[in-house]
Amino acid sequence: MDALTQADYLALWESGQALHPIDQGLLAVQAAFPETRQENVADWPLGRRNRALAQLRCACFGPILSGWTACRQCGEKLEFKVDGNALIETGALADAPPTVSISGRVFRLPSSRDLARLATQSAPASAVTQLLDLCLVREDAGEAPTAWNEDDLETIGEQLSLADPLAEILLDLRCPVCGDSFQESLDLAAFFWSELEGRSKRLLLDVHTLASAYGWSEAEILSLSPARRNFYREQVHA
Ligand SMILES: [Zn+2]
Repeated sequence: MDALTQADYLALWESGQALHPIDQGLLAVQAAFPETRQENVADWPLGRRNRALAQLRCACFGPILSGWTACRQCGEKLEFKVDGNALIETGALADAPPTVSISGRVFRLPSSRDLARLATQSAPASAVTQLLDLCLVREDAGEAPTAWNEDDLETIGEQLSLADPLAEILLDLRCPVCGDSFQESLDLAAFFWSELEGRSKRLLLDVHTLASAYGWSEAEILSLSPARRNFYREQVHA
C-alpha cells in the first residue's frame, strides 16, 4: 500500500468530493492501492473493500476509529471506539468463497456495485430482497422462483455474513441514560471520507495561514512535516 502524502490527501478529497459515498470509498482504495486500478474494485465483495479501507485508515490516521452516534431512543450522544487492526484481521480470516449455496440457490457475495444499484431504494425490506435478486447466480432446475420468505432471508443473511464477515461492521451500543441496547452499522467508506475531509480542510487552512504570513507556495507548505507546519502556524497565531 502506498503511504499518502499531505498533497495526496488533498488530491483525493478534491477528486472525490462531489461523488456518492460508495464511489468515494472506491476512489480511496484505488488511490492507496495503485495495483488495483486495473481491477473492477466495484465488483469486490464488500469485506475485501472494507479491509482495504481499514488498512488505509490505520495508515493515515492510526488504528483506533473513534466516533459517536445518537441513541435511537433518547438521542443521547454515544461514543464508540473500533480497533482498526481487529477489522483487518477479521477480513484476513475470511477465506471468502465466490458463491454461497442455500437450498438449491447459489448467490455471489454483495459488492459495492450492488449497493450503488440499491442506493436509490428507500424501503429497507424491499432493498434486501432486491440485493438478493441481484446476487442470485442460479437456481437448481425444478425449483420454481418464489418470493423470499422470512426464514429464507434470515438463513441467507447468516450464510453471507459467515462467508464475508467484514461485509458489514456492526457496533454494539448501549445507552447509559435510557438503557437501550442496539446495533448500528458502521459505514467505513463514509467514516474514512469524513476524516479525510476534516484533514484536508485543516491543511488548506494551514496553507492559507502560512502563505499569507510567509509568502510560501502551496507545494512548499504541503511538503513541510506536520511538526514544522504546526510550529510555524503557532508562531503566526502567537
Ligand atoms: Zn438512550
